Amino acid sequence: MSERMPYTPSMSTLVCVPIMVTDEADALRDAALAREAGADMVEFRVDDFFAGTGDASDAARIARLVSASPLPCILTCRPTWEGGHYDADDDVRVAMFERACVGLQAGEHAPRYVDVELAAYNRSDNLRLKINLCVDAEREQSAGLILSSHDFDSRPADLTRRMLSMRSHGAARVHKVAFRARSLRDNIELFELVRQGDRPTIALGMGEFGLMSRVLAPKFGAFLTFASLRDASATAPGQPTLAQLLETYRFRSIRTTTKVFGVVGWPVSHSLSPRIHNAGFGELGVDAVYLPMPIAPGATPGDNDASLKATLTELIEYGPLDFRGCSVTIPHKESLVRVARGTGWEIDSGAAMIGAANTLVVSREDGRARVRVFNSDAPAAIESIKGVLGSRELAGLVIGVVGAGGAGRAIAFEAARAGAIPIVFNRDLARAEDLAGSVRSATGVAARGLAWDSMEGAACDVWVNCTPVGMKNGLAPGAMAIPEAALNRATASRAIVMDTVYAPRVTPLVKRARELGCTVVEGLEMFVRQAALQFEAWTGLSAPTETFRRVVTEYDA
Ligand code: NAP
Repeated sequence: MSERMPYTPSMSTLVCVPIMVTDEADALRDAALAREAGADMVEFRVDDFFAGTGDASDAARIARLVSASPLPCILTCRPTWEGGHYDADDDVRVAMFERACVGLQAGEHAPRYVDVELAAYNRSDNLRLKINLCVDAEREQSAGLILSSHDFDSRPADLTRRMLSMRSHGAARVHKVAFRARSLRDNIELFELVRQGDRPTIALGMGEFGLMSRVLAPKFGAFLTFASLRDASATAPGQPTLAQLLETYRFRSIRTTTKVFGVVGWPVSHSLSPRIHNAGFGELGVDAVYLPMPIAPGATPGDNDASLKATLTELIEYGPLDFRGCSVTIPHKESLVRVARGTGWEIDSGAAMIGAANTLVVSREDGRARVRVFNSDAPAAIESIKGVLGSRELAGLVIGVVGAGGAGRAIAFEAARAGAIPIVFNRDLARAEDLAGSVRSATGVAARGLAWDSMEGAACDVWVNCTPVGMKNGLAPGAMAIPEAALNRATASRAIVMDTVYAPRVTPLVKRARELGCTVVEGLEMFVRQAALQFEAWTGLSAPTETFRRVVTEYDA
Protein backbone atom coordinates (compact mmCIF):
# COMPACT_ATOMS: atom_id res chain seq x y z
CA MET A 1 0.00 0.00 0.00
CA SER A 2 1.14 3.56 -0.78
CA GLU A 3 2.80 5.55 2.01
CA ARG A 4 1.21 8.81 0.84
CA MET A 5 -0.25 11.14 3.48
CA PRO A 6 -3.84 12.45 3.28
CA TYR A 7 -3.98 14.78 0.34
CA THR A 8 -4.54 18.51 0.91
CA PRO A 9 -6.65 20.05 -1.87
CA SER A 10 -4.97 23.04 -3.51
CA MET A 11 -7.66 23.94 -6.02
CA SER A 12 -11.41 24.41 -5.88
CA THR A 13 -13.80 21.57 -6.61
CA LEU A 14 -14.61 21.29 -10.31
CA VAL A 15 -18.07 20.98 -11.80
CA CYS A 16 -18.24 18.36 -14.53
CA VAL A 17 -21.14 17.81 -16.91
CA PRO A 18 -21.50 14.24 -18.19
CA ILE A 19 -22.47 13.92 -21.84
CA MET A 20 -23.73 10.62 -23.24
CA VAL A 21 -22.30 10.77 -26.74
CA THR A 22 -24.49 9.50 -29.57
CA ASP A 23 -23.48 12.09 -32.15
CA GLU A 24 -20.25 14.16 -32.19
CA ALA A 25 -21.91 17.45 -33.23
CA ASP A 26 -24.59 17.17 -30.51
CA ALA A 27 -21.96 16.29 -27.92
CA LEU A 28 -19.85 19.34 -28.83
CA ARG A 29 -22.95 21.57 -28.76
CA ASP A 30 -23.77 20.30 -25.27
CA ALA A 31 -20.17 20.82 -24.17
CA ALA A 32 -20.38 24.44 -25.38
CA LEU A 33 -23.67 24.90 -23.49
CA ALA A 34 -22.07 23.42 -20.37
CA ARG A 35 -19.20 25.91 -20.63
CA GLU A 36 -21.61 28.83 -21.10
CA ALA A 37 -23.62 27.66 -18.08
CA GLY A 38 -20.51 27.66 -15.88
CA ALA A 39 -19.16 24.08 -15.93
CA ASP A 40 -15.39 23.50 -15.68
CA MET A 41 -15.19 20.13 -17.39
CA VAL A 42 -17.22 17.63 -19.38
CA GLU A 43 -17.18 13.87 -19.31
CA PHE A 44 -17.66 12.29 -22.72
CA ARG A 45 -19.38 8.97 -22.06
CA VAL A 46 -18.72 7.10 -25.29
CA ASP A 47 -20.08 3.71 -24.20
CA ASP A 48 -23.09 4.03 -26.54
CA PHE A 49 -21.11 5.68 -29.30
CA PHE A 50 -18.10 3.37 -29.41
CA ALA A 51 -19.20 0.09 -30.99
CA GLY A 52 -16.02 -1.73 -30.05
CA THR A 53 -15.77 -3.53 -33.40
CA GLY A 54 -12.08 -2.75 -33.77
CA ASP A 55 -12.71 -0.39 -36.69
CA ALA A 56 -9.89 2.17 -36.36
CA SER A 57 -12.07 5.01 -37.66
CA ASP A 58 -14.32 4.75 -34.54
CA ALA A 59 -11.37 5.47 -32.25
CA ALA A 60 -10.22 8.28 -34.56
CA ARG A 61 -13.64 9.96 -34.29
CA ILE A 62 -13.40 9.87 -30.51
CA ALA A 63 -9.88 11.33 -30.59
CA ARG A 64 -11.18 14.18 -32.76
CA LEU A 65 -14.18 14.72 -30.45
CA VAL A 66 -11.86 15.03 -27.45
CA SER A 67 -9.60 17.47 -29.30
CA ALA A 68 -12.53 19.66 -30.38
CA SER A 69 -14.02 19.90 -26.88
CA PRO A 70 -14.51 23.48 -25.68
CA LEU A 71 -13.80 22.32 -22.10
CA PRO A 72 -11.19 19.94 -20.64
CA CYS A 73 -12.71 16.48 -20.69
CA ILE A 74 -12.81 13.07 -19.08
CA LEU A 75 -13.05 10.22 -21.55
CA THR A 76 -15.10 7.27 -20.28
CA CYS A 77 -16.33 4.11 -21.93
CA ARG A 78 -18.27 2.40 -19.15
CA PRO A 79 -18.92 -1.34 -19.53
CA THR A 80 -22.32 -2.87 -18.79
CA TRP A 81 -20.97 -4.76 -15.77
CA GLU A 82 -20.22 -1.42 -14.07
CA GLY A 83 -23.54 0.25 -14.90
CA GLY A 84 -22.62 1.55 -18.38
CA HIS A 85 -23.60 0.50 -21.90
CA TYR A 86 -20.35 -0.75 -23.48
CA ASP A 87 -20.75 -4.42 -24.23
CA ALA A 88 -17.72 -5.32 -26.34
CA ASP A 89 -14.13 -6.34 -25.85
CA ASP A 90 -11.85 -4.70 -23.25
CA ASP A 91 -8.83 -4.83 -25.60
CA VAL A 92 -10.71 -2.80 -28.22
CA ARG A 93 -11.72 -0.29 -25.58
CA VAL A 94 -8.11 0.04 -24.41
CA ALA A 95 -6.94 0.49 -28.01
CA MET A 96 -9.41 3.39 -28.28
CA PHE A 97 -7.85 4.98 -25.14
CA GLU A 98 -4.37 4.48 -26.67
CA ARG A 99 -5.45 6.23 -29.87
CA ALA A 100 -7.02 9.14 -27.91
CA CYS A 101 -4.11 9.55 -25.45
CA VAL A 102 -0.85 8.62 -27.15
CA GLY A 103 -1.61 7.79 -30.78
CA LEU A 104 -2.38 11.45 -31.51
CA GLN A 105 -2.28 12.97 -34.95
CA ALA A 106 -1.47 16.58 -35.88
CA GLY A 107 -3.79 19.06 -34.16
CA GLU A 108 -5.11 16.51 -31.66
CA HIS A 109 -4.55 16.47 -27.93
CA ALA A 110 -5.20 13.98 -25.16
CA PRO A 111 -8.22 14.15 -22.84
CA ARG A 112 -7.47 15.66 -19.43
CA TYR A 113 -8.50 12.33 -17.83
CA VAL A 114 -9.50 8.83 -18.76
CA ASP A 115 -11.78 6.95 -16.35
CA VAL A 116 -11.11 3.23 -15.92
CA GLU A 117 -12.90 0.95 -13.48
CA LEU A 118 -10.80 -0.44 -10.64
CA ALA A 119 -12.21 -3.90 -11.32
CA ALA A 120 -10.99 -3.86 -14.95
CA TYR A 121 -7.62 -2.40 -13.94
CA ASN A 122 -7.13 -5.09 -11.30
CA ARG A 123 -8.31 -7.94 -13.49
CA SER A 124 -5.63 -7.86 -16.20
CA ASP A 125 -1.89 -7.12 -16.09
CA ASN A 126 -2.00 -6.49 -19.81
CA LEU A 127 -4.78 -3.92 -19.57
CA ARG A 128 -3.07 -2.22 -16.64
CA LEU A 129 0.20 -2.01 -18.56
CA LYS A 130 -1.46 -0.50 -21.60
CA ILE A 131 -3.51 2.00 -19.58
CA ASN A 132 -0.36 3.03 -17.67
CA LEU A 133 1.29 3.87 -20.99
CA CYS A 134 -1.68 6.14 -21.86
CA VAL A 135 -1.52 8.18 -18.66
CA ASP A 136 0.87 10.05 -16.42
CA ALA A 137 0.23 10.44 -12.72
CA GLU A 138 1.99 13.82 -12.48
CA ARG A 139 2.39 15.58 -15.86
CA GLU A 140 -0.61 17.84 -16.50
CA GLN A 141 -0.01 17.72 -20.30
CA SER A 142 -0.70 13.98 -20.38
CA ALA A 143 -3.97 12.30 -19.61
CA GLY A 144 -4.47 11.51 -15.94
CA LEU A 145 -6.04 8.28 -14.78
CA ILE A 146 -9.26 8.31 -12.74
CA LEU A 147 -9.60 4.90 -11.12
CA SER A 148 -13.26 4.40 -10.36
CA SER A 149 -15.64 2.11 -8.55
CA HIS A 150 -19.45 2.19 -8.77
CA ASP A 151 -22.30 0.38 -7.09
CA PHE A 152 -25.77 1.32 -8.30
CA ASP A 153 -27.54 -0.84 -5.69
CA SER A 154 -25.99 -0.13 -2.32
CA ARG A 155 -22.86 0.61 -0.37
CA PRO A 156 -20.37 -2.06 -1.40
CA ALA A 157 -19.64 -4.41 1.48
CA ASP A 158 -15.94 -4.38 0.50
CA LEU A 159 -15.61 -0.60 0.28
CA THR A 160 -12.51 -0.44 2.48
CA ARG A 161 -10.80 -3.15 0.45
CA ARG A 162 -11.62 -1.25 -2.74
CA MET A 163 -10.11 1.96 -1.36
CA LEU A 164 -6.95 0.14 -0.27
CA SER A 165 -6.67 -1.43 -3.70
CA MET A 166 -7.00 1.98 -5.37
CA ARG A 167 -4.29 3.39 -3.15
CA SER A 168 -1.93 0.58 -4.12
CA HIS A 169 -1.87 1.81 -7.73
CA GLY A 170 0.56 4.69 -8.15
CA ALA A 171 -0.57 5.49 -11.71
CA ALA A 172 -3.94 6.93 -10.66
CA ARG A 173 -4.12 10.71 -10.39
CA VAL A 174 -7.70 10.69 -9.02
CA HIS A 175 -9.83 8.16 -7.13
CA LYS A 176 -13.57 7.98 -7.70
CA VAL A 177 -16.13 6.09 -5.62
CA ALA A 178 -19.88 6.25 -6.24
CA PHE A 179 -22.52 4.09 -4.60
CA ARG A 180 -26.22 4.29 -3.92
CA ALA A 181 -26.65 5.98 -0.55
CA ARG A 182 -29.06 4.06 1.70
CA SER A 183 -29.71 6.98 4.03
CA LEU A 184 -28.36 10.46 4.80
CA ARG A 185 -25.81 8.88 7.11
CA ASP A 186 -23.92 7.35 4.16
CA ASN A 187 -22.86 10.88 3.17
CA ILE A 188 -20.66 11.07 6.24
CA GLU A 189 -18.65 8.06 5.10
CA LEU A 190 -18.33 9.65 1.64
CA PHE A 191 -17.07 12.91 3.17
CA GLU A 192 -14.50 10.94 5.15
CA LEU A 193 -13.29 9.13 2.01
CA VAL A 194 -12.54 12.54 0.51
CA ARG A 195 -10.92 13.85 3.69
CA GLN A 196 -8.79 10.75 4.21
CA GLY A 197 -7.87 10.26 0.53
CA ASP A 198 -4.17 10.23 -0.34
CA ARG A 199 -4.86 12.01 -3.63
CA PRO A 200 -7.72 13.99 -5.23
CA THR A 201 -10.92 12.05 -4.63
CA ILE A 202 -14.46 12.02 -5.98
CA ALA A 203 -16.89 10.35 -3.54
CA LEU A 204 -20.55 10.54 -4.46
CA GLY A 205 -23.78 9.07 -3.15
CA MET A 206 -26.30 8.08 -5.79
CA GLY A 207 -30.04 8.49 -5.33
CA GLU A 208 -31.90 11.14 -3.35
CA PHE A 209 -30.08 10.34 -0.09
CA GLY A 210 -26.74 11.18 -1.73
CA LEU A 211 -27.42 14.77 -2.78
CA MET A 212 -25.44 16.13 0.20
CA SER A 213 -22.27 14.43 -1.00
CA ARG A 214 -22.67 16.05 -4.42
CA VAL A 215 -23.48 19.60 -3.29
CA LEU A 216 -21.09 19.70 -0.33
CA ALA A 217 -18.14 18.35 -2.36
CA PRO A 218 -16.22 21.69 -2.03
CA LYS A 219 -16.69 21.76 1.74
CA PHE A 220 -14.62 18.59 2.01
CA GLY A 221 -12.18 19.34 -0.82
CA ALA A 222 -13.46 16.77 -3.31
CA PHE A 223 -11.86 16.84 -6.74
CA LEU A 224 -15.11 17.29 -8.65
CA THR A 225 -18.82 16.84 -8.64
CA PHE A 226 -21.12 16.00 -11.54
CA ALA A 227 -24.13 18.01 -12.65
CA SER A 228 -26.38 17.31 -15.61
CA LEU A 229 -27.06 19.84 -18.34
CA ARG A 230 -30.76 19.01 -18.29
CA ASP A 231 -33.01 16.99 -16.00
CA ALA A 232 -33.13 14.07 -18.41
CA SER A 233 -29.40 13.95 -19.14
CA ALA A 234 -28.24 12.83 -15.68
CA THR A 235 -25.95 9.80 -15.88
CA ALA A 236 -26.53 8.72 -12.29
CA PRO A 237 -29.63 8.83 -10.11
CA GLY A 238 -29.77 11.90 -7.88
CA GLN A 239 -27.41 14.01 -9.98
CA PRO A 240 -28.50 17.67 -9.71
CA THR A 241 -28.76 19.83 -12.79
CA LEU A 242 -26.10 22.46 -13.39
CA ALA A 243 -28.67 25.19 -12.73
CA GLN A 244 -29.70 23.64 -9.40
CA LEU A 245 -26.11 23.22 -8.32
CA LEU A 246 -24.86 26.68 -9.29
CA GLU A 247 -27.97 28.79 -8.72
CA THR A 248 -30.15 27.13 -6.06
CA TYR A 249 -27.30 25.71 -3.96
CA ARG A 250 -24.77 28.48 -4.74
CA PHE A 251 -22.09 25.84 -5.22
CA ARG A 252 -19.29 28.33 -5.95
CA SER A 253 -19.71 29.91 -2.53
CA ILE A 254 -19.47 26.64 -0.58
CA ARG A 255 -16.20 26.27 1.33
CA THR A 256 -14.83 24.51 4.39
CA THR A 257 -16.45 27.01 6.75
CA THR A 258 -19.93 26.84 5.21
CA LYS A 259 -22.66 25.99 7.72
CA VAL A 260 -25.17 23.35 6.70
CA PHE A 261 -28.97 23.50 7.05
CA GLY A 262 -31.76 21.56 5.43
CA VAL A 263 -35.29 20.29 5.37
CA VAL A 264 -35.90 16.89 6.92
CA GLY A 265 -39.01 15.04 5.78
CA TRP A 266 -40.41 12.48 3.35
CA PRO A 267 -40.76 13.30 0.55
CA VAL A 268 -38.70 16.50 0.37
CA SER A 269 -37.35 16.59 -3.16
CA HIS A 270 -40.01 19.09 -4.27
CA SER A 271 -39.84 21.31 -1.18
CA LEU A 272 -39.62 25.03 -1.86
CA SER A 273 -37.63 25.61 1.32
CA PRO A 274 -34.17 25.11 -0.28
CA ARG A 275 -34.96 27.78 -2.84
CA ILE A 276 -36.05 30.37 -0.33
CA HIS A 277 -33.45 29.81 2.37
CA ASN A 278 -30.55 29.61 -0.09
CA ALA A 279 -31.80 32.80 -1.77
CA GLY A 280 -31.91 34.40 1.70
CA PHE A 281 -28.36 33.27 2.54
CA GLY A 282 -27.18 34.61 -0.82
CA GLU A 283 -28.84 37.97 -0.36
CA LEU A 284 -27.47 38.54 3.14
CA GLY A 285 -24.06 37.01 2.40
CA VAL A 286 -24.45 34.24 5.01
CA ASP A 287 -21.83 31.48 4.66
CA ALA A 288 -24.42 28.69 4.66
CA VAL A 289 -26.25 26.25 2.42
CA TYR A 290 -29.65 24.56 2.78
CA LEU A 291 -30.37 21.11 1.35
CA PRO A 292 -33.22 18.60 1.07
CA MET A 293 -32.56 15.92 3.70
CA PRO A 294 -34.86 12.95 3.15
CA ILE A 295 -35.50 10.60 6.05
CA ALA A 296 -37.81 7.71 5.20
CA PRO A 297 -40.74 7.12 7.56
CA GLY A 298 -40.51 4.21 9.98
CA ALA A 299 -43.09 1.42 10.04
CA THR A 300 -44.25 2.50 13.53
CA PRO A 301 -43.98 5.80 15.46
CA GLY A 302 -41.24 4.13 17.53
CA ASP A 303 -39.25 3.20 14.42
CA ASN A 304 -39.74 6.68 13.08
CA ASP A 305 -38.42 8.27 16.27
CA ALA A 306 -35.43 5.92 16.31
CA SER A 307 -34.41 6.69 12.76
CA LEU A 308 -34.95 10.46 13.14
CA LYS A 309 -32.91 10.45 16.34
CA ALA A 310 -30.07 8.39 14.87
CA THR A 311 -29.78 10.59 11.79
CA LEU A 312 -30.06 13.96 13.52
CA THR A 313 -27.62 12.94 16.24
CA GLU A 314 -25.06 11.80 13.71
CA LEU A 315 -25.38 14.98 11.66
CA ILE A 316 -25.02 17.12 14.80
CA GLU A 317 -22.05 15.16 16.14
CA TYR A 318 -20.07 14.99 12.91
CA GLY A 319 -18.02 18.17 13.47
CA PRO A 320 -16.63 18.72 9.94
CA LEU A 321 -20.19 19.06 8.59
CA ASP A 322 -21.05 22.02 10.85
CA PHE A 323 -24.74 21.13 10.74
CA ARG A 324 -26.60 24.07 12.28
CA GLY A 325 -30.25 23.12 12.01
CA CYS A 326 -33.16 22.13 9.86
CA SER A 327 -36.79 22.56 9.02
CA VAL A 328 -38.75 19.41 9.82
CA THR A 329 -41.82 18.47 7.86
CA ILE A 330 -44.24 15.57 7.29
CA PRO A 331 -44.04 12.91 8.74
CA HIS A 332 -41.49 13.85 11.40
CA LYS A 333 -42.91 16.88 13.25
CA GLU A 334 -44.36 14.92 16.18
CA SER A 335 -41.36 12.59 16.27
CA LEU A 336 -39.11 15.61 16.66
CA VAL A 337 -40.74 16.59 19.96
CA ARG A 338 -40.54 13.01 21.27
CA VAL A 339 -36.89 12.74 20.22
CA ALA A 340 -36.12 16.11 21.82
CA ARG A 341 -37.75 14.95 25.08
CA GLY A 342 -35.80 11.69 25.06
CA THR A 343 -32.50 13.37 24.23
CA GLY A 344 -32.73 16.36 26.54
CA TRP A 345 -32.84 18.98 23.79
CA GLU A 346 -34.65 22.21 24.69
CA ILE A 347 -38.30 22.45 23.56
CA ASP A 348 -40.12 25.78 23.48
CA SER A 349 -43.46 26.02 25.26
CA GLY A 350 -45.54 26.22 22.06
CA ALA A 351 -44.03 23.08 20.55
CA ALA A 352 -44.33 21.24 23.88
CA MET A 353 -48.03 22.08 24.10
CA ILE A 354 -48.79 21.28 20.44
CA GLY A 355 -46.71 18.10 20.57
CA ALA A 356 -45.12 18.91 17.20
CA ALA A 357 -42.13 21.00 16.11
CA ASN A 358 -40.91 22.03 12.68
CA THR A 359 -37.56 23.63 13.49
CA LEU A 360 -34.26 22.43 14.95
CA VAL A 361 -31.54 24.91 15.89
CA VAL A 362 -27.99 23.84 16.71
CA SER A 363 -25.63 26.37 18.21
CA ARG A 364 -22.07 25.57 19.18
CA GLU A 365 -20.13 26.97 22.09
CA ASP A 366 -16.63 25.70 22.95
CA GLY A 367 -17.20 22.75 20.63
CA ARG A 368 -20.38 21.69 22.47
CA ALA A 369 -23.68 21.58 20.63
CA ARG A 370 -26.75 23.19 22.16
CA VAL A 371 -29.90 21.92 20.44
CA ARG A 372 -33.40 23.35 20.66
CA VAL A 373 -36.64 22.77 18.79
CA PHE A 374 -39.66 24.97 18.25
CA ASN A 375 -42.77 25.31 16.11
CA SER A 376 -42.77 28.22 13.67
CA ASP A 377 -45.99 27.14 11.87
CA ALA A 378 -48.20 28.10 14.79
CA PRO A 379 -47.07 31.71 15.35
CA ALA A 380 -46.76 32.21 11.56
CA ALA A 381 -50.41 31.22 11.02
CA ILE A 382 -51.73 33.32 13.87
CA GLU A 383 -49.64 36.37 12.88
CA SER A 384 -50.95 35.98 9.29
CA ILE A 385 -54.54 36.11 10.57
CA LYS A 386 -53.79 39.04 12.88
CA GLY A 387 -52.38 40.87 9.86
CA VAL A 388 -55.88 41.19 8.34
CA LEU A 389 -57.92 41.70 11.52
CA GLY A 390 -57.72 45.48 11.39
CA SER A 391 -59.11 46.90 14.60
CA ARG A 392 -60.57 43.56 15.72
CA GLU A 393 -58.98 41.46 18.47
CA LEU A 394 -58.31 37.76 17.91
CA ALA A 395 -59.33 36.94 21.48
CA GLY A 396 -62.97 35.80 21.56
CA LEU A 397 -63.25 35.05 17.80
CA VAL A 398 -64.43 31.60 16.69
CA ILE A 399 -61.88 29.89 14.40
CA GLY A 400 -63.03 27.04 12.17
CA VAL A 401 -59.97 24.79 11.89
CA VAL A 402 -60.55 22.37 9.02
CA GLY A 403 -58.23 19.37 9.41
CA ALA A 404 -56.72 17.86 12.54
CA GLY A 405 -53.22 16.96 11.28
CA GLY A 406 -49.98 18.82 12.04
CA ALA A 407 -51.08 22.21 10.69
CA GLY A 408 -54.55 21.95 12.25
CA ARG A 409 -53.04 21.06 15.62
CA ALA A 410 -50.59 23.94 15.54
CA ILE A 411 -53.27 26.48 14.61
CA ALA A 412 -55.89 25.19 17.07
CA PHE A 413 -53.45 25.39 20.02
CA GLU A 414 -51.96 28.74 19.06
CA ALA A 415 -55.40 30.28 18.43
CA ALA A 416 -56.53 29.09 21.87
CA ARG A 417 -53.33 30.46 23.45
CA ALA A 418 -54.28 33.82 21.89
CA GLY A 419 -57.77 33.60 23.45
CA ALA A 420 -59.70 32.56 20.30
CA ILE A 421 -62.11 29.58 20.32
CA PRO A 422 -61.21 26.82 17.87
CA ILE A 423 -63.82 24.49 16.36
CA VAL A 424 -62.09 21.57 14.67
CA PHE A 425 -63.73 19.84 11.68
CA ASN A 426 -62.17 16.67 10.38
CA ARG A 427 -63.10 13.72 8.15
CA ASP A 428 -62.19 11.51 11.05
CA LEU A 429 -64.42 12.97 13.81
CA ALA A 430 -62.61 11.14 16.61
CA ARG A 431 -59.39 12.91 15.65
CA ALA A 432 -61.17 16.30 15.71
CA GLU A 433 -62.66 15.58 19.15
CA ASP A 434 -59.34 14.37 20.42
CA LEU A 435 -57.57 17.55 19.31
CA ALA A 436 -60.29 19.77 20.76
CA GLY A 437 -60.05 17.86 24.06
CA SER A 438 -56.27 18.38 24.21
CA VAL A 439 -56.67 22.09 23.50
CA ARG A 440 -59.32 22.38 26.25
CA SER A 441 -57.18 20.68 28.85
CA ALA A 442 -53.99 22.56 27.90
CA THR A 443 -55.50 26.05 27.62
CA GLY A 444 -58.91 25.99 29.35
CA VAL A 445 -60.49 27.39 26.14
CA ALA A 446 -63.85 25.81 25.13
CA ALA A 447 -62.60 24.18 21.91
CA ARG A 448 -64.94 21.71 20.16
CA GLY A 449 -64.53 18.93 17.62
CA LEU A 450 -67.38 18.64 15.11
CA ALA A 451 -68.31 16.36 12.24
CA TRP A 452 -67.14 17.28 8.72
CA ASP A 453 -70.77 17.59 7.54
CA SER A 454 -71.62 20.20 10.14
CA MET A 455 -69.37 22.80 8.47
CA GLU A 456 -72.22 24.03 6.24
CA GLY A 457 -74.28 25.17 9.19
CA ALA A 458 -71.43 26.46 11.35
CA ALA A 459 -70.81 30.15 12.00
CA CYS A 460 -67.12 31.03 12.33
CA ASP A 461 -65.35 34.39 12.29
CA VAL A 462 -62.25 32.84 10.71
CA TRP A 463 -62.02 29.70 8.55
CA VAL A 464 -58.67 28.00 8.04
CA ASN A 465 -58.13 25.11 5.65
CA CYS A 466 -55.53 22.82 7.20
CA THR A 467 -55.99 19.92 4.78
CA PRO A 468 -54.07 19.35 1.55
CA VAL A 469 -57.28 19.83 -0.47
CA GLY A 470 -56.53 22.36 -3.25
CA MET A 471 -52.86 21.49 -3.61
CA LYS A 472 -51.16 21.59 -7.01
CA ASN A 473 -51.30 18.10 -8.57
CA GLY A 474 -53.72 17.11 -5.78
CA LEU A 475 -56.21 14.28 -6.10
CA ALA A 476 -59.33 16.39 -6.72
CA PRO A 477 -58.48 19.45 -8.84
CA GLY A 478 -60.77 22.40 -8.15
CA ALA A 479 -62.01 20.95 -4.83
CA MET A 480 -62.44 23.07 -1.68
CA ALA A 481 -62.33 21.63 1.84
CA ILE A 482 -64.64 24.36 3.16
CA PRO A 483 -68.09 24.27 1.53
CA GLU A 484 -69.46 27.30 -0.27
CA ALA A 485 -72.41 27.53 2.15
CA ALA A 486 -69.94 28.13 4.99
CA LEU A 487 -68.17 30.78 2.91
CA ASN A 488 -71.50 32.51 2.16
CA ARG A 489 -72.31 32.54 5.83
CA ALA A 490 -68.80 33.84 6.38
CA THR A 491 -69.39 36.67 3.90
CA ALA A 492 -72.48 37.73 5.79
CA SER A 493 -70.48 37.98 8.99
CA ARG A 494 -67.37 39.58 7.32
CA ALA A 495 -65.30 36.52 8.06
CA ILE A 496 -61.71 35.81 7.17
CA VAL A 497 -60.77 32.78 5.09
CA MET A 498 -57.24 31.42 5.19
CA ASP A 499 -55.76 28.54 3.21
CA THR A 500 -52.58 26.93 4.51
CA VAL A 501 -51.95 25.39 1.07
CA TYR A 502 -49.41 27.61 -0.74
CA ALA A 503 -48.82 25.79 -4.02
CA PRO A 504 -50.68 26.99 -5.99
CA ARG A 505 -50.70 30.39 -4.44
CA VAL A 506 -54.31 30.97 -5.54
CA THR A 507 -56.12 27.78 -4.53
CA PRO A 508 -59.76 27.11 -5.49
CA LEU A 509 -60.68 28.14 -1.93
CA VAL A 510 -58.73 31.42 -2.13
CA LYS A 511 -60.29 32.20 -5.52
CA ARG A 512 -63.87 31.50 -4.49
CA ALA A 513 -63.58 33.23 -1.11
CA ARG A 514 -62.30 36.36 -2.91
CA GLU A 515 -65.17 36.21 -5.39
CA LEU A 516 -67.58 36.07 -2.46
CA GLY A 517 -66.00 39.14 -0.87
CA CYS A 518 -64.30 37.45 2.12
CA THR A 519 -61.04 38.76 3.53
CA VAL A 520 -58.51 36.20 2.32
CA VAL A 521 -55.11 35.10 3.65
CA GLU A 522 -53.06 33.00 1.25
CA GLY A 523 -50.95 30.05 2.42
CA LEU A 524 -47.95 31.93 1.06
CA GLU A 525 -48.26 34.38 3.95
CA MET A 526 -47.93 31.62 6.56
CA PHE A 527 -45.22 29.85 4.60
CA VAL A 528 -43.07 32.97 4.32
CA ARG A 529 -43.58 33.87 7.99
CA GLN A 530 -42.74 30.37 9.30
CA ALA A 531 -39.61 30.31 7.12
CA ALA A 532 -38.63 33.78 8.33
CA LEU A 533 -38.85 32.70 11.98
CA GLN A 534 -36.57 29.75 11.19
CA PHE A 535 -34.10 31.87 9.24
CA GLU A 536 -33.91 34.37 12.09
CA ALA A 537 -33.34 31.63 14.68
CA TRP A 538 -30.50 30.15 12.60
CA THR A 539 -28.73 33.33 11.52
CA GLY A 540 -29.67 35.98 14.08
CA LEU A 541 -30.50 38.19 11.08
CA SER A 542 -33.78 39.68 9.95
CA ALA A 543 -35.11 37.44 7.14
CA PRO A 544 -35.41 38.93 3.62
CA THR A 545 -39.14 38.16 3.40
CA GLU A 546 -39.65 40.02 0.12
CA THR A 547 -37.10 37.68 -1.49
CA PHE A 548 -38.87 34.67 0.06
CA ARG A 549 -42.19 35.92 -1.41
CA ARG A 550 -40.62 36.51 -4.82
CA VAL A 551 -39.10 33.00 -4.91
CA VAL A 552 -42.43 31.33 -4.03
CA THR A 553 -44.33 33.51 -6.50
CA GLU A 554 -41.84 32.77 -9.30
CA TYR A 555 -42.19 29.04 -8.61
CA ASP A 556 -45.96 29.35 -8.80
CA ALA A 557 -45.92 31.28 -12.11
P1 NAP B 1 -51.26 16.05 7.93
O1 NAP B 1 -50.66 16.05 9.29
O2 NAP B 1 -51.04 14.90 7.03
O3 NAP B 1 -52.85 16.25 8.11
C1 NAP B 1 -53.70 16.26 7.00
C2 NAP B 1 -55.10 16.62 7.44
O4 NAP B 1 -55.87 16.81 6.27
C3 NAP B 1 -55.78 15.53 8.26
O5 NAP B 1 -56.64 16.16 9.18
C4 NAP B 1 -56.59 14.77 7.21
O6 NAP B 1 -57.77 14.22 7.70
C5 NAP B 1 -56.97 15.89 6.26
N1 NAP B 1 -57.18 15.44 4.90
C6 NAP B 1 -56.27 14.85 4.09
N2 NAP B 1 -56.79 14.63 2.88
C7 NAP B 1 -58.08 15.08 2.93
C8 NAP B 1 -59.15 15.11 1.99
N3 NAP B 1 -59.00 14.65 0.75
N4 NAP B 1 -60.33 15.64 2.39
C9 NAP B 1 -60.47 16.12 3.63
N5 NAP B 1 -59.52 16.10 4.58
C10 NAP B 1 -58.32 15.59 4.22
O7 NAP B 1 -50.80 17.34 7.12
P2 NAP B 1 -50.41 18.80 7.69
O8 NAP B 1 -48.99 18.86 8.07
O9 NAP B 1 -51.41 19.19 8.69
O10 NAP B 1 -50.57 19.67 6.38
C11 NAP B 1 -51.85 19.96 5.86
C12 NAP B 1 -51.73 21.08 4.85
O11 NAP B 1 -51.22 22.24 5.46
C13 NAP B 1 -50.79 20.76 3.69
O12 NAP B 1 -51.41 21.03 2.48
C14 NAP B 1 -49.64 21.71 3.85
O13 NAP B 1 -49.19 22.21 2.61
C15 NAP B 1 -50.25 22.83 4.64
N6 NAP B 1 -49.22 23.48 5.45
C16 NAP B 1 -48.87 24.74 5.09
C17 NAP B 1 -47.92 25.42 5.81
C18 NAP B 1 -47.56 26.81 5.40
O14 NAP B 1 -46.55 27.30 5.88
N7 NAP B 1 -48.35 27.47 4.59
C19 NAP B 1 -47.28 24.80 6.91
C20 NAP B 1 -47.67 23.50 7.26
C21 NAP B 1 -48.65 22.85 6.52
P3 NAP B 1 -57.84 12.74 8.41
O15 NAP B 1 -57.38 12.94 9.83
O16 NAP B 1 -59.28 12.38 8.32
O17 NAP B 1 -56.94 11.86 7.61
